[in-house]
Amino acid sequence: MINNKHLYNQALAVYESKQAKANEREFINERKLLQNEEYSFITYELKATIIDLEKALYFGKADQIDELAQKKQSLEKQKRELLEKLTKKSTRQEFECEICSDKGNLADGSLCSCFYQTLTSLALDFIGAKKHNLSDFSQNLLKSTDREYKKFEKLQNYAKNFSTSSKNLLFVGEAGTGKTFFASAILNEVSKKNFNALYFTACEFGQVLLNYHLANEYEKSVFYDILTTADLIVIDDLGTEPILKNVTLEYLLFIISERISQNKPFIITTNLSPEKLSTRYGQRMFSRINGKNTVKLEFIGKDLR
Ligand SMILES: [Zn+2]
Repeated sequence: MINNKHLYNQALAVYESKQAKANEREFINERKLLQNEEYSFITYELKATIIDLEKALYFGKADQIDELAQKKQSLEKQKRELLEKLTKKSTRQEFECEICSDKGNLADGSLCSCFYQTLTSLALDFIGAKKHNLSDFSQNLLKSTDREYKKFEKLQNYAKNFSTSSKNLLFVGEAGTGKTFFASAILNEVSKKNFNALYFTACEFGQVLLNYHLANEYEKSVFYDILTTADLIVIDDLGTEPILKNVTLEYLLFIISERISQNKPFIITTNLSPEKLSTRYGQRMFSRINGKNTVKLEFIGKDLR
Protein backbone atom coordinates (compact mmCIF):
# COMPACT_ATOMS: atom_id res chain seq x y z
CA MET A 1 0.00 0.00 0.00
CA ILE A 2 1.20 3.52 -0.75
CA ASN A 3 2.44 4.86 2.55
CA ASN A 4 1.62 8.56 2.56
CA LYS A 5 -0.52 10.42 5.08
CA HIS A 6 -1.55 13.20 2.70
CA LEU A 7 -3.03 10.74 0.19
CA TYR A 8 -4.52 8.51 2.90
CA ASN A 9 -6.38 11.48 4.39
CA GLN A 10 -7.51 12.50 0.91
CA ALA A 11 -8.92 9.01 0.40
CA LEU A 12 -10.73 9.19 3.76
CA ALA A 13 -12.26 12.50 2.66
CA VAL A 14 -13.47 10.86 -0.56
CA TYR A 15 -15.33 8.24 1.50
CA GLU A 16 -16.76 10.84 3.88
CA SER A 17 -18.27 12.66 0.95
CA LYS A 18 -19.57 9.37 -0.50
CA GLN A 19 -21.25 8.67 2.84
CA ALA A 20 -22.75 12.15 2.96
CA LYS A 21 -24.18 11.63 -0.52
CA ALA A 22 -25.57 8.23 0.46
CA ASN A 23 -27.29 9.76 3.50
CA GLU A 24 -28.76 12.48 1.34
CA ARG A 25 -30.03 9.90 -1.15
CA GLU A 26 -31.62 7.98 1.69
CA PHE A 27 -33.33 11.11 2.97
CA ILE A 28 -34.64 11.97 -0.50
CA ASN A 29 -35.77 8.38 -1.00
CA GLU A 30 -37.69 8.43 2.26
CA ARG A 31 -39.40 11.66 1.22
CA LYS A 32 -40.27 10.18 -2.16
CA LEU A 33 -41.64 7.08 -0.48
CA LEU A 34 -43.85 9.15 1.80
CA GLN A 35 -45.49 10.57 -1.31
CA ASN A 36 -46.85 7.12 -1.85
CA GLU A 37 -50.22 7.12 -0.06
CA GLU A 38 -50.11 3.54 1.10
CA TYR A 39 -46.53 3.84 2.39
CA SER A 40 -47.31 7.09 4.11
CA PHE A 41 -50.45 5.59 5.73
CA ILE A 42 -48.63 2.50 7.00
CA THR A 43 -45.71 4.60 8.31
CA TYR A 44 -47.96 6.89 10.39
CA GLU A 45 -50.20 4.02 11.47
CA LEU A 46 -47.12 2.14 12.65
CA LYS A 47 -45.85 5.16 14.60
CA ALA A 48 -49.22 5.59 16.29
CA THR A 49 -49.40 1.90 17.14
CA ILE A 50 -45.94 1.98 18.70
CA ILE A 51 -46.97 4.94 20.89
CA ASP A 52 -50.21 3.19 21.92
CA LEU A 53 -48.29 0.06 22.72
CA GLU A 54 -45.81 1.97 24.87
CA LYS A 55 -48.68 3.64 26.71
CA ALA A 56 -50.42 0.30 27.28
CA LEU A 57 -47.19 -1.17 28.62
CA TYR A 58 -46.59 1.84 30.85
CA PHE A 59 -50.10 1.79 32.32
CA GLY A 60 -50.15 -1.99 32.45
CA LYS A 61 -53.27 -2.38 30.28
CA ALA A 62 -52.83 -6.10 29.72
CA ASP A 63 -56.00 -6.44 27.63
CA GLN A 64 -54.56 -4.08 24.93
CA ILE A 65 -50.93 -5.16 24.88
CA ASP A 66 -51.32 -8.36 22.88
CA GLU A 67 -53.58 -6.80 20.30
CA LEU A 68 -51.30 -3.78 19.80
CA ALA A 69 -48.17 -5.92 19.59
CA GLN A 70 -49.84 -8.02 16.89
CA LYS A 71 -50.93 -4.90 15.02
CA LYS A 72 -47.39 -3.54 15.20
CA GLN A 73 -45.95 -6.76 13.82
CA SER A 74 -48.44 -6.88 10.99
CA LEU A 75 -47.80 -3.24 10.03
CA GLU A 76 -44.05 -3.80 10.07
CA LYS A 77 -44.49 -6.73 7.74
CA GLN A 78 -46.72 -4.70 5.40
CA LYS A 79 -44.18 -1.87 5.39
CA ARG A 80 -41.29 -4.22 4.57
CA GLU A 81 -43.20 -5.81 1.71
CA LEU A 82 -44.35 -2.51 0.31
CA LEU A 83 -40.86 -1.06 0.62
CA GLU A 84 -39.45 -3.99 -1.28
CA LYS A 85 -42.03 -3.53 -4.03
CA LEU A 86 -41.48 0.24 -4.27
CA THR A 87 -37.69 0.26 -4.11
CA LYS A 88 -37.46 -2.35 -6.84
CA LYS A 89 -38.56 0.38 -9.20
CA SER A 90 -36.47 3.49 -8.76
CA THR A 91 -35.46 4.36 -5.27
CA ARG A 92 -33.10 1.51 -4.47
CA GLN A 93 -30.02 2.75 -2.69
CA GLU A 94 -27.16 2.59 -5.16
CA PHE A 95 -23.51 2.37 -4.18
CA GLU A 96 -20.41 2.57 -6.32
CA CYS A 97 -19.08 -0.31 -4.25
CA GLU A 98 -21.71 -2.82 -3.15
CA ILE A 99 -19.16 -4.68 -1.03
CA CYS A 100 -18.60 -1.89 1.51
CA SER A 101 -21.63 0.34 0.68
CA ASP A 102 -19.09 3.10 -0.09
CA LYS A 103 -17.70 3.07 3.44
CA GLY A 104 -14.19 2.11 2.31
CA ASN A 105 -13.85 -0.52 5.02
CA LEU A 106 -15.45 -3.81 5.94
CA ALA A 107 -17.20 -5.02 9.08
CA ASP A 108 -13.95 -6.46 10.47
CA GLY A 109 -12.30 -3.04 10.14
CA SER A 110 -10.04 -3.98 7.23
CA LEU A 111 -9.91 -1.75 4.15
CA CYS A 112 -12.14 -2.62 1.19
CA SER A 113 -10.37 -3.26 -2.12
CA CYS A 114 -12.08 -0.14 -3.50
CA PHE A 115 -10.10 1.91 -0.97
CA TYR A 116 -6.87 0.72 -2.58
CA GLN A 117 -8.22 1.68 -6.00
CA THR A 118 -9.21 5.11 -4.71
CA LEU A 119 -5.71 5.56 -3.30
CA THR A 120 -4.16 4.51 -6.62
CA SER A 121 -6.32 7.03 -8.53
CA LEU A 122 -5.44 9.83 -6.11
CA ALA A 123 -1.75 8.95 -6.42
CA LEU A 124 -1.88 9.02 -10.23
CA ASP A 125 -3.67 12.38 -10.11
CA PHE A 126 -1.12 13.78 -7.73
CA ILE A 127 1.90 12.92 -9.85
CA GLY A 128 0.17 13.93 -13.09
CA ALA A 129 -0.21 10.50 -14.69
CA LYS A 130 -3.29 9.09 -16.34
CA LYS A 131 -5.15 5.85 -15.71
CA HIS A 132 -4.79 3.23 -18.43
CA ASN A 133 -7.19 0.68 -19.77
CA LEU A 134 -5.30 -2.45 -18.87
CA SER A 135 -5.25 -5.74 -20.70
CA ASP A 136 -6.57 -8.92 -19.20
CA PHE A 137 -5.14 -12.44 -19.16
CA SER A 138 -8.47 -13.70 -20.45
CA GLN A 139 -7.89 -11.80 -23.72
CA ASN A 140 -4.94 -14.00 -24.55
CA LEU A 141 -5.38 -16.40 -27.47
CA LEU A 142 -2.53 -18.81 -26.75
CA LYS A 143 -3.18 -22.53 -26.52
CA SER A 144 -1.38 -24.86 -24.13
CA THR A 145 0.46 -26.39 -27.12
CA ASP A 146 1.90 -23.03 -28.24
CA ARG A 147 5.59 -22.34 -27.75
CA GLU A 148 4.81 -19.19 -25.74
CA TYR A 149 2.26 -20.83 -23.47
CA LYS A 150 4.76 -21.62 -20.71
CA LYS A 151 5.60 -17.93 -20.45
CA PHE A 152 1.92 -17.09 -20.30
CA GLU A 153 1.38 -19.55 -17.44
CA LYS A 154 4.45 -18.35 -15.60
CA LEU A 155 3.42 -14.70 -15.80
CA GLN A 156 -0.18 -15.41 -14.91
CA ASN A 157 1.09 -17.23 -11.81
CA TYR A 158 3.36 -14.31 -11.01
CA ALA A 159 0.29 -12.05 -11.04
CA LYS A 160 -1.87 -14.51 -9.07
CA ASN A 161 0.76 -15.03 -6.37
CA PHE A 162 2.02 -11.47 -6.31
CA SER A 163 3.32 -10.30 -2.97
CA THR A 164 5.57 -7.48 -1.91
CA SER A 165 8.46 -9.94 -1.97
CA SER A 166 7.90 -10.85 -5.63
CA LYS A 167 10.85 -10.48 -7.99
CA ASN A 168 11.34 -7.68 -10.49
CA LEU A 169 10.68 -8.52 -14.12
CA LEU A 170 12.60 -7.29 -17.15
CA PHE A 171 10.95 -8.01 -20.50
CA VAL A 172 13.30 -7.65 -23.45
CA GLY A 173 12.27 -8.02 -27.08
CA GLU A 174 11.12 -6.40 -30.30
CA ALA A 175 7.97 -4.32 -30.49
CA GLY A 176 4.81 -6.38 -30.96
CA THR A 177 5.98 -9.48 -29.09
CA GLY A 178 3.54 -9.16 -26.20
CA LYS A 179 5.66 -7.34 -23.61
CA THR A 180 3.08 -4.61 -23.08
CA PHE A 181 0.22 -7.10 -23.00
CA PHE A 182 1.84 -9.09 -20.20
CA ALA A 183 3.04 -6.11 -18.17
CA SER A 184 -0.41 -4.56 -18.39
CA ALA A 185 -2.28 -7.80 -17.62
CA ILE A 186 -0.08 -8.49 -14.57
CA LEU A 187 -0.68 -5.00 -13.25
CA ASN A 188 -4.40 -5.37 -13.86
CA GLU A 189 -4.54 -8.65 -11.90
CA VAL A 190 -2.42 -7.27 -9.05
CA SER A 191 -4.51 -4.10 -8.69
CA LYS A 192 -7.69 -6.16 -8.28
CA LYS A 193 -6.25 -7.36 -4.98
CA ASN A 194 -5.31 -5.15 -2.08
CA PHE A 195 -2.30 -3.52 -3.71
CA ASN A 196 -1.42 -0.16 -5.19
CA ALA A 197 0.00 -0.86 -8.64
CA LEU A 198 0.94 1.90 -11.08
CA TYR A 199 1.36 1.55 -14.84
CA PHE A 200 3.35 4.08 -16.88
CA THR A 201 4.62 4.23 -20.42
CA ALA A 202 8.28 5.29 -20.35
CA CYS A 203 7.25 8.66 -21.83
CA GLU A 204 4.72 9.25 -19.07
CA PHE A 205 7.21 8.16 -16.47
CA GLY A 206 9.69 10.69 -17.86
CA GLN A 207 7.00 13.36 -17.48
CA VAL A 208 6.27 12.21 -13.90
CA LEU A 209 9.97 12.48 -13.07
CA LEU A 210 10.00 15.99 -14.51
CA ASN A 211 6.95 16.89 -12.38
CA TYR A 212 8.79 15.42 -9.40
CA HIS A 213 11.82 17.56 -10.19
CA LEU A 214 9.68 20.72 -10.45
CA ALA A 215 7.60 20.05 -7.31
CA ASN A 216 8.05 21.95 -4.05
CA GLU A 217 9.58 20.27 -1.02
CA TYR A 218 6.27 19.11 0.45
CA GLU A 219 5.03 17.74 -2.88
CA LYS A 220 8.39 16.05 -3.41
CA SER A 221 7.86 14.02 -0.24
CA VAL A 222 4.50 12.82 -1.61
CA PHE A 223 6.06 11.96 -5.00
CA TYR A 224 8.76 10.04 -3.17
CA ASP A 225 6.26 8.04 -1.09
CA ILE A 226 4.11 7.24 -4.11
CA LEU A 227 6.93 6.12 -6.38
CA THR A 228 8.84 4.16 -3.75
CA THR A 229 6.05 2.58 -1.69
CA ALA A 230 3.53 1.64 -4.39
CA ASP A 231 3.44 -2.17 -4.32
CA LEU A 232 4.27 -2.52 -8.01
CA ILE A 233 5.18 -0.16 -10.82
CA VAL A 234 5.40 -0.89 -14.53
CA ILE A 235 7.57 1.20 -16.84
CA ASP A 236 6.60 0.16 -20.33
CA ASP A 237 8.94 0.54 -23.31
CA LEU A 238 11.94 2.00 -21.56
CA GLY A 239 14.18 3.66 -24.11
CA THR A 240 11.45 5.37 -26.12
CA GLU A 241 11.25 8.41 -23.82
CA PRO A 242 13.26 11.58 -24.42
CA ILE A 243 16.11 11.97 -21.96
CA LEU A 244 16.01 15.21 -20.01
CA LYS A 245 19.40 16.28 -18.81
CA ASN A 246 19.85 16.15 -15.02
CA VAL A 247 16.32 14.80 -14.58
CA THR A 248 15.47 11.49 -16.25
CA LEU A 249 18.59 9.52 -15.44
CA GLU A 250 19.15 10.82 -11.92
CA TYR A 251 15.55 10.41 -10.80
CA LEU A 252 15.14 7.06 -12.53
CA LEU A 253 18.26 5.72 -10.83
CA PHE A 254 17.08 7.15 -7.52
CA ILE A 255 13.58 5.64 -7.70
CA ILE A 256 14.77 2.23 -8.89
CA SER A 257 17.51 2.11 -6.22
CA GLU A 258 15.05 3.08 -3.48
CA ARG A 259 12.55 0.45 -4.63
CA ILE A 260 15.25 -2.20 -4.62
CA SER A 261 16.38 -1.28 -1.11
CA GLN A 262 12.75 -1.33 0.12
CA ASN A 263 11.98 -4.60 -1.67
CA LYS A 264 9.29 -3.09 -3.87
CA PRO A 265 9.01 -4.86 -7.21
CA PHE A 266 8.99 -3.25 -10.66
CA ILE A 267 8.38 -4.47 -14.17
CA ILE A 268 10.35 -2.86 -16.99
CA THR A 269 9.82 -3.64 -20.65
CA THR A 270 12.22 -2.54 -23.37
CA ASN A 271 13.25 -3.34 -26.89
CA LEU A 272 16.81 -2.22 -26.21
CA SER A 273 19.55 -4.83 -26.03
CA PRO A 274 21.56 -5.02 -22.77
CA GLU A 275 24.43 -3.15 -24.47
CA LYS A 276 22.15 -0.34 -25.60
CA LEU A 277 20.47 -0.14 -22.18
CA SER A 278 23.85 0.12 -20.53
CA THR A 279 25.03 2.82 -22.97
CA ARG A 280 21.85 4.86 -22.65
CA TYR A 281 21.31 4.65 -18.87
CA GLY A 282 24.81 3.90 -17.63
CA GLN A 283 26.29 0.83 -16.01
CA ARG A 284 24.98 1.64 -12.51
CA MET A 285 21.40 1.85 -13.70
CA PHE A 286 21.75 -1.23 -15.89
CA SER A 287 23.15 -3.36 -13.04
CA ARG A 288 20.20 -2.32 -10.88
CA ILE A 289 17.39 -3.10 -13.30
CA ASN A 290 19.15 -6.32 -14.30
CA GLY A 291 20.23 -7.21 -10.75
CA LYS A 292 20.03 -10.47 -8.83
CA ASN A 293 16.40 -9.92 -7.84
CA THR A 294 15.30 -9.45 -11.45
CA VAL A 295 13.92 -12.18 -13.68
CA LYS A 296 14.78 -11.41 -17.28
CA LEU A 297 12.48 -12.72 -20.00
CA GLU A 298 13.18 -12.61 -23.72
CA PHE A 299 10.25 -11.99 -26.02
CA ILE A 300 10.43 -13.28 -29.57
CA GLY A 301 7.80 -14.03 -32.16
CA LYS A 302 4.29 -13.12 -32.97
CA ASP A 303 2.14 -10.41 -31.53
CA LEU A 304 -0.16 -11.58 -28.74
CA ARG A 305 -2.56 -8.69 -28.71
ZN1 LIG B 1 -15.66 -0.95 -1.26
